[in-house]
Amino acid sequence: MPLTPPPPPASWRPRTVATRGGLQRSQFLETDEAIFMTSGFVYGSAEEAEAAFATDGQRFVYSRYANPTVSMFEERLRLLEGAEMCRATGSGMAAVFAAFACFLKAGDRVVASRALFGSCLNILTQILPRFGVTTELVDGRDHAAWEKALAKGARAVFVESPSNPTLEIIDLKTVADLAHAKGALLVVDNVFASPLLQKPFAFGADIVVYSATKHIDGQGRSLGGAILGPKKFFDDHLLNFLRHTGPSLSPFNAWLLVKGLETLEMRVRRQCEVALAVARFLEKHPKVKRTLYPGLASHPQHDLAAKQMTGFGSVVCFEAGTSKESAFRVMNALKVIDISNNLGDTKSLTTHPATTTHRRLSPEERAAIGISDAFIRISAGIEDEADLIDDLDQALKRI
Ligand SMILES: *Cc1c(COP(=O)(O)O)cnc(C)c1O
Repeated sequence: MPLTPPPPPASWRPRTVATRGGLQRSQFLETDEAIFMTSGFVYGSAEEAEAAFATDGQRFVYSRYANPTVSMFEERLRLLEGAEMCRATGSGMAAVFAAFACFLKAGDRVVASRALFGSCLNILTQILPRFGVTTELVDGRDHAAWEKALAKGARAVFVESPSNPTLEIIDLKTVADLAHAKGALLVVDNVFASPLLQKPFAFGADIVVYSATKHIDGQGRSLGGAILGPKKFFDDHLLNFLRHTGPSLSPFNAWLLVKGLETLEMRVRRQCEVALAVARFLEKHPKVKRTLYPGLASHPQHDLAAKQMTGFGSVVCFEAGTSKESAFRVMNALKVIDISNNLGDTKSLTTHPATTTHRRLSPEERAAIGISDAFIRISAGIEDEADLIDDLDQALKRI
């Protein structure tokens, strides 16, 4: 079994790639992808071990470097994304951190959009600065703000689009062009769009990162992450970093994720349908002050989302009343939708960002990205939308 499976026929369309891409069968010719739950691999002789280490990358030697089940997941995602290389990690945050830590050094500058997932913000503003990397945050929707910040130069630019949880849409092509003009790499966290709905490489992204915990698993079972990009970046920076720092994905979790890719399209398309139905209901509800969903014409960047994405995603946000108390009352009254900070799951989930994922931000920082105390995020699952709407309707009666 080679480290990198032979590519599938070029004629295979995405749905076939999602089901069969990267599959390598063992000598037992199993139908399903096998779980190679092993930390190491054996050699027939000391000479064979010597040769394996001398000709690095030719065979499996240790699961921190590569593992057959993990490689199947990486290859399937690589083919779906259309990237030169893909490596999986144990979580989405391990992917984000590795994507930066593998190539940034003291004195480098990162420019990022301000509307980011809390842990991504923490890496950029708390962890990397301890190693001498500085970060400037801008309003990612403001072209002039990018130009001004990039005038000082940068080694990397980071965006999340749509952003978690405020659903800001970043114009990827514009930001890629501005970043490249300064010699910076554009890193895109594509979690909210999922591999199905947005192809950042088509707009000029250099590196794409995923939390595979979200839509790729999408069934609440496993953490995981992935980094995709050009071979040169992997050869020059990332492979060495991953190999020696070891944020590896477990073979068992890789198996969950490779199976997740097989049903990704069905799940995400359904989630988009459910999200739109929920958003339309909330938008008309008298107790709801503001509803945010890129698929609603009322979203300030609806046109950009329509241009850049092939679907509007599974997350809807709204303000329930005007306070933390009113938001909590609605969440606590829900009987179908669970309170949980995960997203992209088949089960609909809801969370209160101001007191959970974004609680470390100051009230001013939260206000700057539009997270009020009444702000609730819903991750649409695949249940019947009528049951979710009934649930929200009865819960909103509490305020
Ligand atoms: C969840 C999330 C991450 C982190 O992924 P984990 O798998 O939880 O480590 C990163 N970025 C975004 C946008 C996310 O939603």
